[in-house]
Order: sequence, then C-alpha cells, then structure tokens
Amino acid sequence: MRLTCWGAAGEVTGSMHLLEIGPKRILLDCGLFQGRREEARNKNETFPLAVGDLDAVIVSHAHIDHTGRLPLLRKLGFTGPIFCTPATRDLASVMLPDSGFIQEKDFEFLGKRGQNHLAEPLYTAHDAALVPDQMVSLPYERPLDIVPGVRLTYTDAGHMLGSASVVLDVDTAGARRRIVFSGDIGRWGLPIIRDPKPPKGPADVLIIESTYANKVHESVIEAQALLVGYVNKVAKRGGKIFIPAFAIERAQELIYELHGMARDGAMPKIPIYVDSPLAVNATDVFRLHPEAFDLSERLVRETDDLFRFPLVKYVRSVEESKALNSLRGPAIIIAASGMAESGRILHHLRNGIGDHRNLVLIVGFQASYTLGHRLQEGAKEVRIYGDMVPCRAEVATIGGYSGHADRNELRQWVQGLAALPKRAFTVHGETEQLQAMAGLLRDLGVKQVDVPSLGEPFEL
Ligand SMILES: [Zn+2]
Repeated sequence: MRLTCWGAAGEVTGSMHLLEIGPKRILLDCGLFQGRREEARNKNETFPLAVGDLDAVIVSHAHIDHTGRLPLLRKLGFTGPIFCTPATRDLASVMLPDSGFIQEKDFEFLGKRGQNHLAEPLYTAHDAALVPDQMVSLPYERPLDIVPGVRLTYTDAGHMLGSASVVLDVDTAGARRRIVFSGDIGRWGLPIIRDPKPPKGPADVLIIESTYANKVHESVIEAQALLVGYVNKVAKRGGKIFIPAFAIERAQELIYELHGMARDGAMPKIPIYVDSPLAVNATDVFRLHPEAFDLSERLVRETDDLFRFPLVKYVRSVEESKALNSLRGPAIIIAASGMAESGRILHHLRNGIGDHRNLVLIVGFQASYTLGHRLQEGAKEVRIYGDMVPCRAEVATIGGYSGHADRNELRQWVQGLAALPKRAFTVHGETEQLQAMAGLLRDLGVKQVDVPSLGEPFEL
C-alpha cells in the first residue's frame, strides 16, 4: 500500500490524497487550492495524476478545498464513482457550479489583462453541474464495499452538514488493515449539526487534519456570549456588522444563532441580511437534511424552520445587494466569501470599513494572504477592487464558531478512537500546525508520525 498527498500537504487547501492498494487507486478528496492567487492557480492547472486509472474517489465533505477539483477530474476523463454522504452530494450540487462560475469569471478577468495561459476556464459551471451524476451517496455508519477488498464506512465529523471521517477496511494478502482519514474535524457543541464521532476500533494508519493544532478556541457557549455582546454594542452605536462567512454552514449557523437570540429577546430588533445567493441555496439544502441535525438542541426541537424568522431577509439579486450600501441604521450583513477574497462581502466592506461605528466580525479561519486575514491583523488600509480603502471600523474575531476542532478537541478526537493508530500522517495545516499536531500525536504515544510534503510517497 502506498500513500501520496497531492494537496493539503504542508498547507491547508487543495486536500487530495492518493491511496494505492495493490493495483487499485483511490483518491481521498479532490479539493481546490485557494489563497495566494497566482500560486493557487498554477497548482490547480496542473493535475498531478493520471486520471484514467483511478478506481474511485471518496469525498469527506462539501467544502471546495475538498471537492473543487472534481469537475476538473471529470473533464480530464474520470468516469468512476465519487463517494460522499447524501448531504454532501446535495451541497456539492450547489457549491460546485458556483465554483465553476468563479473559474469562468477568473478566466475572463485574466483574459482582459492578457494574463491567461489557459485556452478555456479550468472548468465551467456547466462542467461542475455534471459532477453529482457520478456521486454515490452513502449515509453514516453504513459500510459499503467500494472496490474488491476495500470497505468504506463514514462517521460524522461534526464539521459541516454531511461532513464525514473516512474509514477504509482493506484486505491485503490475507491481512485486514484499517486506514482512517479524519477529514476536517468539527467541534463539540456547534449549532445545528451533531458532535464529531471518532471511528471506533484500532486504526493502522491515521491521516489527520491539523488546522488548529496549535490553538485553543473559546467554547461555543463563550462564542454565543461574545456574539450577543457585539450585536448589542454595535446596534447601540448605530453601526453595521459585516460578517464574511462561508456561504455553507457558517452562514446557516449564524442565522440559527441569531434566530435563537431573537427568540430569547437577547438582541435588538435589527434587520439581518443574508446576502449571498449561494448561502440562500445552501440554506434550502439544509432544510432537506434534518436527519443530520442535532436533536439535543432546543431550537432544532422547538421550531419548524430553523432559518426563517421575522428579522432575517434573504437577498438574491445584485440590485438588492447593492441597495444595502445606502441602508441607514444598524443592521447585520452576512455575505460570502468567508475569507473576504471574493463575493458580495467585498462591496459591503469597501462601502463600510471607513466608518468607525461599523464592525467586521470574523468568524472563520482566515488563510494567510487573504483580505480577511489582513483585516484581522489590523491593517490600516486594504486594497479592495483595486482601490486602497482606509479601515476605521472595528475588527473582531470570534474563534468559537470555527468549524475546526482546536488543539484540545483534536486530542479528544484521537483519544476517542478505541486505540492509538500505529502510524499517523498530519495534513491540512501550515508548517507550525502540522508540527504541533505531530507533537500532540507523539505525546499521546503514536510511535511513527510523518508530516508529508506534496507528492512525497509513503509505503504503508
Ligand atoms: Zn472543511
């Protein structure tokens, strides 16, 4: 058996790992590289594998950095099955075409500047819309033989709707071995979705994410208290709150939290705009998957529709979105993208960060070199749509809504496996986090831990 990491190796995005089991070749995730534009573009343009001899793809969850190269894979001739959970398939049906649309825009933009070295977009919205045709949905805890001698079981990763950890039971030369790929591990107590469920049973090999292996977040309860505090404070001074949020999961969690706050009378009656067609579509997908909701939560049990209440307004059209720029008085605007690199949040920020009454509220992971990260670092001036814009607005971070387990939760997850893995690989982190995760695993007693580089093969 051999493992080669072709993405999320030494960095967070582009998750893609190749498992070669005898003659069988299985891909774990097929994500897009994001972040520094030119570098990401170059990496996405050159697909490192021969697509023809892949037998199957297993997707952990719907985030684009885990699925965003699937349309390319199909375009390059992959016709095999793509396994995922039912909610992941439905989310991918709205997220991948959106990613295709961004690719088309990117292609157009580069073309105008004469900087295009591709003859066509990486893939189009249409290419992306065809991917779900190859997706085979497999619910949690339902083992399935996906190729001879390889059995796949998903467990709930608690990171986003439909997110999963991947368990592969492999028969090789009479011996059975278990490979566990954590996917992105969520947090205990996150709104709407259930808690992470580490796969039970001893793993021979563990491939584990490391996004926040060197950090401790506040708890979700503390995050809720912070959100209540910020909403009330900014509303009082007449400001607006701009929340760059991933259209999927983070946006729904915020709507859910604000719904709870409004219901309990914990916030003033100010309008909440969800300004993202993708978030609106994704919210509809959430409504289709109550099977993935956490029934231990009061709002889940007591309301018919988690995402509809009097203060919230869903904005689809560009005109309505632009009209929000002349809105007066306090309001909350939730818009994508989550790292403020693209999407409608950009025009809201350009319009609003000059006003000291306003607040930019960061609620998700910000990769280096993104606008969200620069604002978080306290930049006094940032470039938006080519213009330098002074930043006088308050910028605050609530880490507790992160979809990613922190150091303590990663440890809790590993300890939740019935036995320590014999061997582990740390992926999905920058160098510091990967080393922190490796250290954490060694401290727990894992004998052999590696931090793979891109394309480095490991015999298992
Ligand atoms: Zn993710």
